[in-house]
Amino acid sequence: MSIKVIVCENYDDMSARAAAIIGEQVKKKPDSVLGLATGSTPIGTYERLIAMHKEGLDFSRATSYNLDEYYPLSPENDQSYRYFMNKQLFEHINIPLSRTHVPNGLAKDPDKECADYDRAIDEAGGIDVQLLGIGVNGHIGFNEPDEALIAATHLTDLTESTVTANARFFASREDVPTKALTMGVGSILKAKKILLLASGANKHEAIKVLLSGKVTTACPATVLHLHPDAVLLCDRAAYNG
Ligand code: PGA
Repeated sequence: MSIKVIVCENYDDMSARAAAIIGEQVKKKPDSVLGLATGSTPIGTYERLIAMHKEGLDFSRATSYNLDEYYPLSPENDQSYRYFMNKQLFEHINIPLSRTHVPNGLAKDPDKECADYDRAIDEAGGIDVQLLGIGVNGHIGFNEPDEALIAATHLTDLTESTVTANARFFASREDVPTKALTMGVGSILKAKKILLLASGANKHEAIKVLLSGKVTTACPATVLHLHPDAVLLCDRAAYNG
């Protein structure tokens, strides 16, 4: 299996290790291109990166691209991923907001938005390190289990299970967007290094499928086996169930 597995004691340990890897990347290459993720899992990583910034880690030359955004949803909506990133990370470090990128959930032409997004990542020199969470169904970004996976950034329908998992953040289930713009699995695999985070027993099934070593569109995270430098940082609960 080509994915490297690091079993961490708990969520804090996982978050500290992820932040250390990203922090080292930014120190080594101040103009790094970071691929960032939303969801509850990376919050601890972002807290540590904010603490590292307070101690001098400089993000002023970094650029970021986020994996996905609900569609249609305004970036000002407090459930948008743009809003999440501003609150959880960008407002607390010195990355120029103009160099942080999240797909535009209000794009009039979503196909053009997606094509432009992939092109912009390429023109920025590609992503140096891509942070990923994993859905309970094995999704990465919003690449949901399906008969086929799409390589490029694209507009996608969310599965019932994802809408249900995300309903906790919205006033009601009816308010949860049912579509999203997401980097495709090919866009993700172009990153030079990939860090997949998994915490909690509810991720165990997805991690079990991932660690079976097969590559299957039924569990999109398994495509990471095809990447030369993918690391899974998972806590004991996600690893053992
Ligand atoms: P979570 O979501 O971090 O909120 O568990 C992960 C994901 O769906 O990718």
